Amino acid sequence: MSILAVSLLFWGGKEADDVAVARQQALVHLVISQLRETVAHNQESVTVWDDAVEAVRGARDSEWLDNNLGSWMHEYFGHNGAFVLDASNKLVHGFSSDGADSAAVFAGMADQVLPLVEELREKMSVDDTEGSEGRMLSPGAADLLVVKDHPAVVSVKPIVSDTGELEQTPGEEYVHVAVRYLDGTFLQNLEREYLFTGIRYAWKNVAAQAESALPLTSATGEVVGYFIWQPYKPGSAMLSRVAPVLVVTLCLILLVISVLLFVLIQRSKRLHASEAQMKHLALHDTLTGLPNRALFGERLDRALGEVQRTRQSVAVLYLDLDRFKQVNDTLGHPAGDTLIQEFGKRLCALTRGIDTVARIGGDEFIIVLPGLDNVRRAEVLCRRVIDSVRKPFDIHDNKVFVGVSIGVAVAPEHAASRTELTRKADIALYQAKNAGRNGYAIFGPAMDLKVQERREIERDLRKALASEGEIQVHYQPLYRAGDMRITGVEALARWKHPARGWISPDVFVPVAEETGLIEALGRRVLREACYAASAWPAMRLAVNVSAIELRNPRFADRLAEMLENYRFPPHNLELEVTESALSGSSEVCEMNVGRLRKAGVSVALDDFGTGFSTFSRLQKLQVDRIKIDQSFVCGIGRSGGDESIVQAIVSLAHARGLDTTAEGIETSEQCAFLESIGCDELQGFLFSHPVTVQQVDESFGISRDEKTATAA
Ligand code: C2E
Ligand code: CA
Ligand code: CA
Repeated sequence: MSILAVSLLFWGGKEADDVAVARQQALVHLVISQLRETVAHNQESVTVWDDAVEAVRGARDSEWLDNNLGSWMHEYFGHNGAFVLDASNKLVHGFSSDGADSAAVFAGMADQVLPLVEELREKMSVDDTEGSEGRMLSPGAADLLVVKDHPAVVSVKPIVSDTGELEQTPGEEYVHVAVRYLDGTFLQNLEREYLFTGIRYAWKNVAAQAESALPLTSATGEVVGYFIWQPYKPGSAMLSRVAPVLVVTLCLILLVISVLLFVLIQRSKRLHASEAQMKHLALHDTLTGLPNRALFGERLDRALGEVQRTRQSVAVLYLDLDRFKQVNDTLGHPAGDTLIQEFGKRLCALTRGIDTVARIGGDEFIIVLPGLDNVRRAEVLCRRVIDSVRKPFDIHDNKVFVGVSIGVAVAPEHAASRTELTRKADIALYQAKNAGRNGYAIFGPAMDLKVQERREIERDLRKALASEGEIQVHYQPLYRAGDMRITGVEALARWKHPARGWISPDVFVPVAEETGLIEALGRRVLREACYAASAWPAMRLAVNVSAIELRNPRFADRLAEMLENYRFPPHNLELEVTESALSGSSEVCEMNVGRLRKAGVSVALDDFGTGFSTFSRLQKLQVDRIKIDQSFVCGIGRSGGDESIVQAIVSLAHARGLDTTAEGIETSEQCAFLESIGCDELQGFLFSHPVTVQQVDESFGISRDEKTATAA
């Protein structure tokens, strides 16, 4: 832009200069041609005059001639020479401004002047009346000639009558020759009046670079010399005046532009840096520095894009730490954070450069294995990861043991899209966790169906718990061995699904446990059971409680509050908890159990015999009763049955001062055996299926207002 402006300025300046030079040259031409006319006019003032005609014919002396036609011309008009010729071109009078001999001067110029005189006589003889130029009184001839080494205007005029009274033969008049030098005063005037700086005359064109030269040519086209001067150049003058300002301005502009550019570059650099940082932050997990879910998505998408091209597989490993929550709860969050970081490092150490290890949630990681020829490689990595996690983590001076469960899905076998592949890896992970932690599972279609069904159950269970009628409680009586008197009932949750019909608690209780709905379900069952049982004669009410409910620190308080509300005596309530709730139990579970037992609520160990640390742990567990699991009971009477185990359990329980209940009794044989070994209480289809609240009411002869049949 500025370059354009500057070049425009220079171009304009040069144009202006060129125009000015051309104009000055034209001016010189004009001045010279005006001079020619002026000289001729000057001459006419003395040559068109009767007195002059008579004087040259000899009527006057030479003094008169000099006064009027000679020196007068010099004094008055500044002519440098004046000569009078007779009809035969003989010099009759002469004058030279420098005082030289006029005859000699004329002789020196005669060769050039006489042709002009002849030209004039020609004109006169052809037409004596008409002036050669309109404004002239008489005809004339003039040219640029060199006179005495001076460039000069030489003008020739006839001496004629002004009144026309004096007769003259045309072509034979006396002639007046005037000489006016073009150098000397003429140039001085030119310089002064027309501002031609340093103008001078030269025979040759010796103009310097910055000078302008104008050739002076005679009528015959002969160059008689050159005028040379320093032309006025307005463009250059303007430029020379403007240039410093311009340069300074340009420099300033350049400076400003460079500063701006510098600032801009710095800023964009900073922007780039912060952009890169932002991008890194947006794509990485702050705790481990590993790729986050977003970057994992990008990487997996890229790997999946390659699958079609390379025909190689991509495996997605979904990892979840087992017992991470316990570490967090017992050692604190900083320890949990360190564990996550260490785990991330171990994963990175086991993977290749092209694999992606991403952290996508609290203790959830994903590994993307692109370019697999064989899925077995994914399995190998799974085993290596599990092995590496077996080694304890050194965290804040603690040796921490955790496990890891891994779900694997492979593209293109299991899915082609990122979401589907991840979802299926997640399903496989779920399966791995269910199969007992510290293991891996590879996705299979059956898993998918299961998960889908679970999801539907979760959704419907949520609705069922928010409404009345779908969730019910049935009661299965418990009998004292020997006299078979009813000692109590066990409350069992029932779900009448509007579309699927009755759904077993074996199906919906695990879902409720996983989704956190178990607390709402547990409260619902307890509330209804307490309400129903408060109308029945005093007997035990057994209610199943999940380990998850017991992990809530407020469980005992809430339960006590509810018993208070229904005025239900705590010593009539027994909570059935599974061994898993108590073994490896957290302090919170123990605290809840301790408080409740203190309040008079008894605790039964449900499904006894299905756990691991059964016998040894029994010493430490704070329970009042043991319920022998039906899997042992149904083996009674069969070949290779579990009679000896059942017997051992009963004796052990008695030795510990605990009551025993056998559940799932279906045959009288089982019943007889259990009675024979001293089992205290019996329960099973042999005596009664779980029944509705109305059926229990009826058996006791109780009639209840329909509207209040359920706990409000
Ligand atoms: P559980 O605590 O072992 O309950 C006994 C289960 O055995 C009940 O199944 C009962 O109907 C069944 N049963 C009783 N007698 C016999 C018999 O002679 N033969 C056979 N084959 N089965 C018999 P149900 O009602 O399907 O409950 C299954 C499990 O669901 C329960 O096992 C319990 O662990 C859980 N559950 C049920 N209701 C609740 C509840 O309200 N809360 C919690 N946390 N769990 C519940
Ligand atoms: Ca039970
Ligand atoms: Ca059971």
